[in-house]
Amino acid sequence: MLDKDIQYLKGVGPKRAGLFRKLDIGTVRDLLYYPPRRYLDRSQIREIRDIRPGQLVSVFGRVADRGMVRTRRGLTILNLLLTDGTGYLLCRWFNQPYLLDRFKIDDRLMVSGTIMADHGLAMSNPEYEPLDQEDSQLIHTGRIVPVHPATAGLSPKQIRAVIKPALEDYLVHLEDPLPEALLQRHRLTGLAQALFQLHFPDSLASAAAARRRLAFEELLYLELVLLLKKRTRSAGQLGCRIEPSNWRQDLLSILPFSLTEAQERVIGEISRDLASGTPMHRLLQGDVGSGKTVVALAAMIQTVRGGFQASLMAPTELLAEQHFWLMSGPLERLGIRSALLTGRTSPRQKEEIGRGLQNGSIGVCLGTQALIQDHVSFHNLGLAVIDEQHRFGVRQRAALRFRGAYPHLLVMTATPIPRTLAMTLYGDLDLSLIDQLPAGRQPVVTRWTGEAQRSRVYQFIEKMLAEGRQAYVVYPVIEETEKQDLKAAIKMQQSLGRLFSGRRVGLMHGQLSLEERQAAMEGFRKRTIDILVSTTVIEVGIDVPNASLMVVEHAERFGLSQLHQLRGRVGRGPHKSFCILMAGPRLSPEARLRLEIMQSTSDGFKIAERDLAIRGPGDFWSTRQHGLPQLKIADLQIDADLITPAREEASAILAADPALSVPPWDRLRNAIRAFHPHADKYLSTG
Ligand code: ADP
Ligand code: MG
Repeated sequence: MLDKDIQYLKGVGPKRAGLFRKLDIGTVRDLLYYPPRRYLDRSQIREIRDIRPGQLVSVFGRVADRGMVRTRRGLTILNLLLTDGTGYLLCRWFNQPYLLDRFKIDDRLMVSGTIMADHGLAMSNPEYEPLDQEDSQLIHTGRIVPVHPATAGLSPKQIRAVIKPALEDYLVHLEDPLPEALLQRHRLTGLAQALFQLHFPDSLASAAAARRRLAFEELLYLELVLLLKKRTRSAGQLGCRIEPSNWRQDLLSILPFSLTEAQERVIGEISRDLASGTPMHRLLQGDVGSGKTVVALAAMIQTVRGGFQASLMAPTELLAEQHFWLMSGPLERLGIRSALLTGRTSPRQKEEIGRGLQNGSIGVCLGTQALIQDHVSFHNLGLAVIDEQHRFGVRQRAALRFRGAYPHLLVMTATPIPRTLAMTLYGDLDLSLIDQLPAGRQPVVTRWTGEAQRSRVYQFIEKMLAEGRQAYVVYPVIEETEKQDLKAAIKMQQSLGRLFSGRRVGLMHGQLSLEERQAAMEGFRKRTIDILVSTTVIEVGIDVPNASLMVVEHAERFGLSQLHQLRGRVGRGPHKSFCILMAGPRLSPEARLRLEIMQSTSDGFKIAERDLAIRGPGDFWSTRQHGLPQLKIADLQIDADLITPAREEASAILAADPALSVPPWDRLRNAIRAFHPHADKYLSTG
């Protein structure tokens, strides 16, 4: 019944229905679950003799007089004198001449607004509502009034006027999909009451309670969908079983260091998944520099030793290339053939790699999105790793997931997300966390400074180089001013080359050819380049432990998480490392705050928190960004405390009734369908 098209509601019709659709409201359900953006407290009904300027009040009275004036500038003002027997209130509406016909002498009205002193007491453009009968129901005045997000041609007032009668008509027939016992457990109100109080609350507290109940309901559906998805995946699909073999010695034989405890633990978790026969679906979280690459390498070696192929996809060519340069040699020593596949791979090479992948002679394939775009087919892909997964879109991830048979999937990210939230955003993934940096790491000493200190900064670069270290100088290149920015970077390389005459200064940016980039990166790695001037292409993943100094030009242009990623390029070895943030003149307070934060902490979690606090949640927290249904009422940040209970309830419900077919859970079945159109796909397997 709630699925009824909104166009058939009182006061809507086809034309307005189109406007409602712009707000994503197509059915009665959408309308009832459409939360107000805020509330206006017009519940303070006063007698005129008691009101004072500045108060926001509602007044009930009778029209004593009315008239329209036209000013010299062509403005119209409708004056209306309202009395309630205790005094007079002047109401004025500007430029709404049509209102004149709405009011007649002796009409009874409720008006709401802020009182001003203007030749006595006055309200400008008050909200008004005719009250002909004693028991008329108030919608817009005399109560706490909802303000819904509106659109051109459809005002909050019009939306209210449609919602009120809809609530009255439909709420009586509503069945609460959530059983009584569950409501009691979490002290939640029933559905009908919650929906009414959401729109027309008795108090702001009851509006909050209503929101909470509806947010819980929505999160419960979300968690149910996620669990169903997960169940479908593990029930329907057989993964390859990668048996334990002697991969461990192999791995240790090519590593110049021993694994951290956290790496050991995480590799153990992955090994168990690989051997389980069910496709792995694991998110590996670890701050910049925590050593995720080695974990991926361990998983890939296991896979190949178990008789399958492995792939690793990176978001940039430079990073894919680096993975290849770092891994191909050691893998070769183990007798494992690897290949690099990016957009720059020549057609001839592509063909050759394609053959190797198809006949299975290539064990490990590294690359960019080219891996999933170019109809690459594997002989028997057993494991797909995605590095820096937050850089990829949802669709790319999905494409990889459903490629051919079901390979085990390992996605890696440095984006720190609170665990409950990660559970939801990546709800159908298992989580592994590297919560420890390799031994001997010291925090990168960070300072921000300005142009006045430039020569001292250069002296410092020289000092570091003299100690045998290397330095990055990073330039921002943004799309709008790309050409100029690139020029600035190139000019910087030249001027640094002159300034540090005995030193070799390299250049790295995205427009270079593969060979040029390779030469620059290799030179830097082999220390034939001392200073690498670069754009942000080095932001993710790049790993040269001997580089212990980073200078970021125009640091004020970068966001916090980007600065954190960039800074992660230094402090990767045993050397004390430094990051100098050069800021331009005229810093905005926000930019200054970012620089201060970078100076005060190197903890990725803290930085992410501050970032959220400064920028607001943005896209990151939106479920749609993660390929999940859009949340209408719940907010993953505000309602974070509801996520775990909702998840627990969801999992208990599915344990009790896997197909949601028995009362009271069968009611949830329909509710979930309305929440997530594709839910049936997952339900049918129950
Ligand atoms: P990220 O997690 O940012 O991808 P990397 O995998 O690139 O980090 O590792 C960062 C640096 O730490 C690399 O130089 C890597 O060789 C080194 N590293 C990784 N694990 C260890 C370890 N257990 N002991 C010492 N150094 C390590
Ligand atoms: Mg990495």
